[in-house]
Amino acid sequence: MDIQAYNRVVKEIQSAGAQLVAVSKTKPVEDIKVLYEAGQRVFGENKVQEMVEKYEQLPADIQWHMIGHLQRNKVKYIAPFVSLIHGVDSERLYREIEKQAAKVERTIEVLLQMHIAEEETKFGLSVQELKQLLEQNLPAKGMVRIVGLMGMATNTDNEKQVAKEFEGLHQLFLEIKEQYFKNAPGFRHLSMGMSGDYQIAIQHGSTLVRIGSLIFGERNYSHG
Ligand SMILES: *Cc1c(COP(=O)(O)O)cnc(C)c1O
Repeated sequence: MDIQAYNRVVKEIQSAGAQLVAVSKTKPVEDIKVLYEAGQRVFGENKVQEMVEKYEQLPADIQWHMIGHLQRNKVKYIAPFVSLIHGVDSERLYREIEKQAAKVERTIEVLLQMHIAEEETKFGLSVQELKQLLEQNLPAKGMVRIVGLMGMATNTDNEKQVAKEFEGLHQLFLEIKEQYFKNAPGFRHLSMGMSGDYQIAIQHGSTLVRIGSLIFGERNYSHG
């Protein structure tokens, strides 16, 4: 836990008009409490069970963001409290969130995850799939609100490539906003940037920056 790094990063991100999502996955609740005391309220997790356990132990005014790949059969566990789901990458997942949101009578905000990286392995929609999903689901009738887009750049040291991918997503965000959300101020978020590339992301219009290791320290998966 590096509270100085936290203070520095938060300032940098806020002065760019963006918001920090503190990615606390694999980190203990004690670490989250330290950042909570420092004023942080938005935390990101990528595993459903871990998020539920932390939610139960921590103050109720924390906003929990699901940032990882979400399996449909697990949506029901987070529907009662989740604040934003970043990684909606299929119509079937969208439908399931709609169903669970109706069950708990909550509006759930989501981001549609776009595939912008070169790697085959990263999840996300193509532009065609995005438009298809929007055309079938707008205007929203159910309890799901599409509030923006999310993407992960290629994991590379080539900053020009990362910048190109982020700018491409930024332009797509503007185009989609114009075309489908003209009178919907709720469509407002562009989730891009992690510890290694957040400065490039905020230069290219990111509004939600997901940072873990830079503030919490490296994750050690084998020891939790
Ligand atoms: C883990 C994770 C992050 C944070 O990664 P760091 O490199 O530790 O900042 C951001 N976004 C997603 C989707 C993640 O899974």
